[in-house]
Amino acid sequence: MANPVKTALAVGACKAVRSALRTLHRGGTTTPGKVAMKIDGNILSTVSTGMDIIVVTGTNGKTTTSNMIEHALTSAGYDVLANKSGANLLPGVTAEFTSSASFFGKPKKRYAVIECDEGALKQVVPKIRPKVIVVTNLFRDQLDRYGEVMHTRDEIRKGIDLVPEAVLCLNADDSLVASLALDAPNPVVYYGLDTPVGDQDNVEISDARYCIRCGTEYEYSYHTYAHLGGFSCPKCGYRRMNTEVAVEQIKKSSSRGMEVEMRLGTEKRDVTVGLPAVYNLYNAVAAICAYRTAGFETEQIIGSLADVSSSFGRMETFDLDGVPVQMILVKNPAGCNQALSYLAGLGEDYQAVFCLNDRTADGHDISWIWDADFEMVCQDPHLKHAYVMGDRAEDMQLRLKYGDASEVDIEIAANNDVLIEKMRKSEVPVFILPNYTSMLSLRAALGAVTGKAEFWKG
Ligand SMILES: [Zn+2]
Repeated sequence: MANPVKTALAVGACKAVRSALRTLHRGGTTTPGKVAMKIDGNILSTVSTGMDIIVVTGTNGKTTTSNMIEHALTSAGYDVLANKSGANLLPGVTAEFTSSASFFGKPKKRYAVIECDEGALKQVVPKIRPKVIVVTNLFRDQLDRYGEVMHTRDEIRKGIDLVPEAVLCLNADDSLVASLALDAPNPVVYYGLDTPVGDQDNVEISDARYCIRCGTEYEYSYHTYAHLGGFSCPKCGYRRMNTEVAVEQIKKSSSRGMEVEMRLGTEKRDVTVGLPAVYNLYNAVAAICAYRTAGFETEQIIGSLADVSSSFGRMETFDLDGVPVQMILVKNPAGCNQALSYLAGLGEDYQAVFCLNDRTADGHDISWIWDADFEMVCQDPHLKHAYVMGDRAEDMQLRLKYGDASEVDIEIAANNDVLIEKMRKSEVPVFILPNYTSMLSLRAALGAVTGKAEFWKG
């Protein structure tokens, strides 16, 4: 049972620390939560009691999927709590809920959309008891944070085991994600792409090639990207499940977005997604699936997906004195390949910038760049010039040279200011692919010269 005195003290301390940090312009998102948890170990359960909560987890697309759901709820007039600033571990989630509660620990909002780190799921969900858990995908991520992808999968499963009443929205095309439902008591709804995407003959599968149940190599009736698609095990019969919500046909695809035909149950609908690239289509279908499963009107989210703006940093556009500059965060081979295939599929001239740091938040191991398919862009005749920047600019330059970028110069930019001056002179659009810490610093520099607000002030 909650102790009302402890609760009030924890809420008060959380709000005070948060407001003090904001006054000091510190972006700290975890300290207020840690303080609250120290005073009242039960605080997160108390301040989330009675709320309808959707949790989004998985390697890639958490932020965009959460934003799509939240955007739809907000547009429909609901009052929604969300952890926007990327505070997706237990202290950050605790801070979000606690600081938005009343001083007596009563939630002021009815709904919440929470992006949760895969490893933190088992700590967060038993406290907030979500109605729906969405799992986007499972790819090999920063090696020195979680180790292999199977470990990440098992961490998610530990979280699911603690909330058997939560409905799972799982990516049917991802054999690892779909396997989360094996022997789990939870109700499950599957979403996915019921249609092949891209070149079906040259698909590199680096994760999850072998059956999770018996170790036999999967067969695929079609591919969408990486290990996602119509998988089946020829030996034990483990296979892609039928989808409740799916993309059936991609009608139009451009750098501004996509028009697709979706199936919701048995109903077919034309849907416009205001973001480009196949991975955003996955985010959209995951968001619709979660929205519908949580009991909201699908009309609302279908209407709002057309004008959804991309999440912080994941794909963001700047106008640099008339030069369109688009930034796409990349942090692992699968996400990087999606960004690269997006560039290679543009069909128009561009410059590309690759920024690579190796700081703690990036994961110190940068060897993943050798697993990503930079050849797609290096050998694209529309690539007119390339820059590399960051702590490991020279490694990046070497990687591109091995990608046979013989037709273009690969220039090292010493710092953000130098790069911005060079981009300003470009006569074609510029695409920047930074990893995490390089994105933060470059985004701040670009924000300063283009007058775009910092994300945490937005
Ligand atoms: Zn098998």
